[in-house]
Amino acid sequence: MPFTTPHRPYDLAAMWPELAALARTAVRLHPRHGDPTAEQSSIGGPLLWPVDEPWPTCSGPHEWNSLQTLDEVFEERRILDLTWGKRMAREPEIFTAEERATLDRIRQAGRNDARQDQIRTAGAPLLPVAQLFTRDVPGLPFRERFDLLQVLWCPYDHPEAEKYEPAVHLRWRDTSRSVLKPVYPDGNTLVGFDDYVPSRCVIAPEEVVEFPDLGLLPPELRESIKATSERVEAFSYSENALAPGWKVNGHGAAWMITDVVDVRCECGAEAKPLLTAATGGMDGLTSTWLPLEERDIAADIEKRYSYSVDVYLGRGYDLQIFHCGLDPEHPPVMEMS
Ligand SMILES: [Zn+2]
Ligand SMILES: [Zn+2]
Repeated sequence: MPFTTPHRPYDLAAMWPELAALARTAVRLHPRHGDPTAEQSSIGGPLLWPVDEPWPTCSGPHEWNSLQTLDEVFEERRILDLTWGKRMAREPEIFTAEERATLDRIRQAGRNDARQDQIRTAGAPLLPVAQLFTRDVPGLPFRERFDLLQVLWCPYDHPEAEKYEPAVHLRWRDTSRSVLKPVYPDGNTLVGFDDYVPSRCVIAPEEVVEFPDLGLLPPELRESIKATSERVEAFSYSENALAPGWKVNGHGAAWMITDVVDVRCECGAEAKPLLTAATGGMDGLTSTWLPLEERDIAADIEKRYSYSVDVYLGRGYDLQIFHCGLDPEHPPVMEMS
């Protein structure tokens, strides 16, 4: 189902004509729970993987919260989804005895000693995060050479690199050049944080226009926008400039937890926003970015928007994945914001 972002309440480029030259197109992905096949673009779905290429692993070192299998993570989510209504209504008995026993068993298994040993000695298999075909997602970089971008990450923290976030890997592919088969990691695969497991989602890409974070604008323009924000209570530059949720290209996420960084590839080239992995899919009921098609979905809306990918990063931040604008072989750069 396609989604339509409503017109912005404020036309920024009309208010500040200098902004027009800084506009970029972002592609909102609108991920929603589903059952994508490996032939489809998806978030968290199976990937089309070359038959002669081993599934990638990360050697760490790793830190984790509790070691659960993918099967356990999805079983826990299934139970929490089923009982969402009861939890929202604050009913005294949320879980059946059987559900409670399953949740207890899963939590205990996460502290199992054999699992701790296993993860200290073996590499951690990566998880599929996004599979994006150029036919579905307009404007993907390097599309003259590749027709598929795969994003994977290692579902642990990486203290040695001072990265308390999953480690991201990219694969740019020309699907005509290898024999591909559908792959999704085995259900027994261990993960260090259940919050780093994307639920399987279908996507509905939609192009929107974005403007840079306030901190990236020339000082005079920034001051002029700030003055308007102080004068007009309902006006928020950020709310009009940057789309929330999972998206490709554009200007990335708003910089909330750190000052704006000039993001560079290790080769020194400008690194450009590639994929924003968002903790919340949407800013609750009040966001002006709520698609027109979902305006009338009431009861379930917070659940659907906030947790559609079921990923929770940092203290509820977005993970911005940047890529080298010059060479697809260079590793991505990540910033939490
Ligand atoms: Zn790792
Ligand atoms: Zn580079």
